[in-house]
Amino acid sequence: MTESADRDPEFAFELRVCRWAERAWHPDGPRPAFVARQLGTRDRRWDTVVVEVDPDAFAARRALSTDGFDSDLLRVVRHAPADWQWYRDAIPKPDFPWRHVVPAVHRAAGRGVVEKRRGSRNRVEYQQIAPYPDWVERIVAIENKPDLDASAARALADQLEHDVERGLADEVWVATEATGDRVEPALLEDLPVEVGILSLDDDGTIDVLWHPSTLTPDPDDARRRLVLAERAYDRGWRSYVDTMRPDCRHFELARRGMALVPRCAAKDCFQSQRECAHSCSAFEPEPPAWRMNGWPIEGGPGKGLRELLRARRERERERMEPSE
Ligand code: SF4
Repeated sequence: MTESADRDPEFAFELRVCRWAERAWHPDGPRPAFVARQLGTRDRRWDTVVVEVDPDAFAARRALSTDGFDSDLLRVVRHAPADWQWYRDAIPKPDFPWRHVVPAVHRAAGRGVVEKRRGSRNRVEYQQIAPYPDWVERIVAIENKPDLDASAARALADQLEHDVERGLADEVWVATEATGDRVEPALLEDLPVEVGILSLDDDGTIDVLWHPSTLTPDPDDARRRLVLAERAYDRGWRSYVDTMRPDCRHFELARRGMALVPRCAAKDCFQSQRECAHSCSAFEPEPPAWRMNGWPIEGGPGKGLRELLRARRERERERMEPSE
C-alpha cells in the first residue's frame, strides 16, 4: 500500500478501537458490553460508546426486540403495565400533549413489543408482553485520537473537561495509536486527570497509559442515558456500511489487526466514510456477473458484505448472553 494509503486513518483507527472494545472490554478485566460509534447528545458526539450490561437482563432486552427503541417507543415499552391499563394511567405525564403518545403505543404494538386494545369509553389500553428489564450497567465514552501529541491533547482538553463535568458517561477514555515512544508528560498534564488514556497496537492489544476515574452520573439523567444505550444497541458500530458503497466493485473489507476495515482498491487506501459515498467519482457498480458465484442471489458481494457485518454483530451479542 502506498503512503497515501494511510490517508484519513482516523476512521480505520476508530473501527479498530471498536473491535478491540467488543472483544476485550474492560482493560481491568472482562465485562459484558457492546459497542457503538458516533453517538451522544445534541451538544456532544462521542467517537466510541461502550455500554456495559447485566447479561441476564440483556438477554431479556434482546428477547423483547433485536432493534433499539427510540425515545417515544422507550417511554411506552418501559412503562407498559402487566395488565391492561389506559396508557395515561401507565405512563408518567410527559412534558408534551398526551395525544403525541398514542402513535407510539400503536407503533409498539405493531412491532409486537406490547399488546393494545380499545377499552371502555374507546380508550387506548395496552399491556406488556414482557417487562422492560434493567439492563444497562455503565456507559463509557472513548475519544479516538490516533496521533495524540501535546497539541492534539490541548485541543481535546476542553471537550474532555466538558465530558467529565457533564457526567453523562460513567467513564471517559482517550484511545491513541501505539507508537513505541514513551508517553509525553505534557499529554498527562493537558488532559483532565479523570480521563483514562490507552494505546492500541497494530495487532489489537492495548496498553493502559493512565487509568480513568469513575464519574458519578446525575440520577436525573437516567432516561437520557437509557435513550443513549438504546440508540447504541440499535446502531452498533458496523452500521457505517449503511452510508458507504459496498456495492462498488472497488469496495473491500481488509483485515487490520483484529478488525475488518473498509478499503478502496481503486484509491489504494482505507477510505473515509465521507468519501465512499454517492458523490464518489471513482464509483463503479459491481459487474452483474458478480451477482452469481455463490453470493446472495438477490445481491452481489456488496450485499454479502452487509450480511457478513450484520451476522458478526448478532454473533457478538449472542456471546454476551449467559450460557444455559
Ligand atoms: S465508492 Fe469510491 S471510495 Fe468507495 S470503494 Fe468505490 S471507488 Fe472506493
